[in-house]
Amino acid sequence: MQPIQSVKGMNDILPEEIALWRFAEEKAREIFQRFGYSEIRTPIVEKTELFTRGIGEATDIVEKEMYTFQDKKGRSLTLRPEATASIIRAYIQHQMHVKSHQKKFYLIGPMFRHERPQKGRYRQFHQINVEVFGIDEPMLDAEVMFLACLFLREIGLKEVSLEINSLGCPNCRISFREILQEYLLQYQESLCPDCNRRVYKNPLRCFDCKAPQCKEILSNAPLILDFICDSCNRHFQEVQNFLRELNVEFIINGRMVRGLDYYVKTAFEIVTEHLGAQNAVGGGGRYDGLMKDLGGPDLPGIGFALGMERIILLLKDSAKLQQDNNQMIYCVLLGDRARAEGFKLAQKLRSEGFIVDLSYEDRSAKSQMRTANKMGARMAIIIGDDELSQGVVQLRDMHRSSQWVVEIEELVPELRSILNES
Ligand code: ATP
Ligand code: MG
Repeated sequence: MQPIQSVKGMNDILPEEIALWRFAEEKAREIFQRFGYSEIRTPIVEKTELFTRGIGEATDIVEKEMYTFQDKKGRSLTLRPEATASIIRAYIQHQMHVKSHQKKFYLIGPMFRHERPQKGRYRQFHQINVEVFGIDEPMLDAEVMFLACLFLREIGLKEVSLEINSLGCPNCRISFREILQEYLLQYQESLCPDCNRRVYKNPLRCFDCKAPQCKEILSNAPLILDFICDSCNRHFQEVQNFLRELNVEFIINGRMVRGLDYYVKTAFEIVTEHLGAQNAVGGGGRYDGLMKDLGGPDLPGIGFALGMERIILLLKDSAKLQQDNNQMIYCVLLGDRARAEGFKLAQKLRSEGFIVDLSYEDRSAKSQMRTANKMGARMAIIIGDDELSQGVVQLRDMHRSSQWVVEIEELVPELRSILNES
């Protein structure tokens, strides 16, 4: 029989990799907490309309990337492709604007998009999300970008750059949309089929197109940055001033528009040259009208999402992360009484906080030692029936290849002093 494989584009994260994942996740939690963020977790499945309304009909995500299905009652449900809409839904649903003082949230978890799988692009992937509601000060925009950069720096990713843009407010967009549309329609024949639709539905989206002929046309297109209103411009200038005060380096990229419709004013992306075609590690921006559009209070919002898989790929490349010193103790049990007593001893050591594994099977000393070695155990405790009757065990330091006899009574302090040293 053919063994069953995982769904295409959905990956297992194997134990060898988990250390990197946990390192990144724990660092994120620690830093976000320092900046006053609270964790939120929302369901992986939501009603489809949350995303069609929230993300925008004319976006790649809603047009072609969502995992949408009907449940047994015929309701349309979708595996979340991003987290912002879900977090806003939860905020509104639990009336957090009146019931709590929480404004800053983070969420770490899986997202789903039906895309062509390739390096750095999968169908189930994981994001670290940050969202702040109710504050529209440029100071916050700068701090949110600083936070994303700080996190990446603290986990050791230095070769990333921050690109920023202002997408203006809905008012600036009305006039710009026409200007851009007029420009693009001159080249209508050369635009790809997708952009031919976008020109009418949402011309700003054309900036996101990866087709070479469209990129060429867009390289000379008018930029929204040159058309934003005074108030948006002032906001953008202040954001830049605060970034400078925080010593955050940035590049202004007038062509960066982001893949979701809801962004206004500040938009940003963090990119790297080390990931090939998938050059964005993360991105975000301001989405001031979104909460109201989703039926909630008219509160501004800003946030970002970082892609975990891309971060892990970069961490693996930079190979800066040292595995934790192995602290494992492996019990080698020889003989029936030793197996029974050793089993109890292993539980006792675990209750003392040691990391302990043992051979459950009755195997030769050589084979058990080989396992201890393969697992990278730091210490082995060798317990035989003869030793037990004298109230002792053998202790072996696997790193130093030295071995000696220890009284069972002395085992805990002895192990503690050796493992604390290393
Ligand atoms: P891209 O242009 O690479 O498709 P995006 O604009 O669709 O990215 P966002 O919606 O901004 O991505 O999501 C934020 C981050 O999540 C991305 O920068 C990326 O690191 C990660 N990400 C997005 N889609 C995927 C995917 N299919 N597989 C792995 N990571 C992804
Ligand atoms: Mg995408």
